[in-house]
Amino acid sequence: ESITVAELAKRMGEKAADLVKSLFNMGMMVTVNQNVDQDTAELLVTEFGHNVQRVSDADVDIDTSEDVDPEDTLKARPPVVTIMGHVDHGKTSLLDAIRGADVAAGEAGGITQHIGAYQVTPKKGDPVTFLDTPGHEAFTEMRARGANITDIAILVVAADDGLKPQTVEAINHIKAAEVPMIVAINKIDTAGANAQKVREELLQHEIIVEAMSGDVQDVEVSAKEKTNIDKLLEAINLQAELLELKANPDRDADGTVIEAKLDKGRGPVATVLIKRGTLKVGDTFVAGPAAGKVRALIDDHGRRVKEAGPAFPVEVLGLGGVPSAGDQFTVVENEARAREVAEYRQSVLDKKRTTAAPMSLESMFDKKGSETITFPLIIKADVQGTAEAVVNAVNKISNEDIEVRVIHSGVGAITESDVTLAASSGAPIIGFNVRPNAKAKEIAKRDQVEFRYYDVIYHLTDWVKQAMAGELGPEI
Ligand code: GDP
Repeated sequence: ESITVAELAKRMGEKAADLVKSLFNMGMMVTVNQNVDQDTAELLVTEFGHNVQRVSDADVDIDTSEDVDPEDTLKARPPVVTIMGHVDHGKTSLLDAIRGADVAAGEAGGITQHIGAYQVTPKKGDPVTFLDTPGHEAFTEMRARGANITDIAILVVAADDGLKPQTVEAINHIKAAEVPMIVAINKIDTAGANAQKVREELLQHEIIVEAMSGDVQDVEVSAKEKTNIDKLLEAINLQAELLELKANPDRDADGTVIEAKLDKGRGPVATVLIKRGTLKVGDTFVAGPAAGKVRALIDDHGRRVKEAGPAFPVEVLGLGGVPSAGDQFTVVENEARAREVAEYRQSVLDKKRTTAAPMSLESMFDKKGSETITFPLIIKADVQGTAEAVVNAVNKISNEDIEVRVIHSGVGAITESDVTLAASSGAPIIGFNVRPNAKAKEIAKRDQVEFRYYDVIYHLTDWVKQAMAGELGPEI
């Protein structure tokens, strides 16, 4: 067991230089980034008049709450924008149209890559970063996990359809997040378009747009005809200016995982949106429960880049596992520290999983008071979107006799901890485009856990239905 002088100083609340001085007086020539052993560390702690204390687990994790950048290190950064609105009102089309407005879009080698976010530099104006996973569930899910990455929300309303239930939901989510809003009134090219009606309907939700003398910017657009896309980008630039968004680019990077997957050729890949600092090839980091070292950075045009600064989305290669969307991404001083934090977080996740599923095989299939039988499943998939789609599909199969319950779902290969959970709950493990690792296979054999592999959702749902029928017997 050893610890760097810098880390020890942090935990003691002392200056690292003072520790170095003290060590020097003890006859040890050590720099802040070098390790000292446990005995030396204890000696230092008592020397400074502190009590030696076993580090509690919680101290292992990274705490950036007091790590505030001084005002004079801050530089302007692009805004991060999320597009929300009712289904079919044109969120995807608008994202595509905006992407087309990027000056780099036409450049040679600039092939569009969907990595979960992209940055656009308009012909006139400053760069803007868009999250290209629209939908308020994703927005709120990220927020629930403490990742407030959206600076500005675009509310899309189709001019020929007006406010719909999901528009109202989106409004409520945006208000709850206290994120400034810009209204994009889309499909103004259609015959039934009535932008004024949209503005009036918005009034009922206390949204007063500029055209109605309010202070919420509204822009009439057509994603299809690419009308006024430049105006929408201008509106975003204007709103961003008011927000005075800043970050320190000259430090170790931290940010948020916005998408992660297990890529067949490249291994675990995560798209990270940098919050502050600059991420560089070779940096050591932790992303949720995964440690890693940046092997390559790839931008939204599929180009390798050497570094990524604030509000810049990049694909990161070199992860030791697949994190989840919303996970914190932090550069740390060395691999030992990265491993320590990753292992700690994994242990917390494992603990949560096993306590969240205290049911035994017997109780799972035991008829409950209401005659309902529970059918447990564990689902692993190659990407977050697929995992969600699979979970939704199997949840829908539940009927009044049997409740399908996904006790755990995640992204990446099937691991030991999945198998442990499966064994304790009597659940089969569904691998959607993923397979178990060697260790997981070994334990599964011992504990008689069943794996089932699929790549088509309805093949899986057919099997679940059949298994449910078998469970109930032939009379149902
Ligand atoms: P989303 O569900 O909100 O992502 O909506 P989409 O972008 O998938 O669009 C839904 C449908 O509306 C598609 O058929 C689009 O081609 C169409 N659409 C989107 N924007 C426009 C527009 O500005 N004008 C017209 N006429 N159709 C549009």
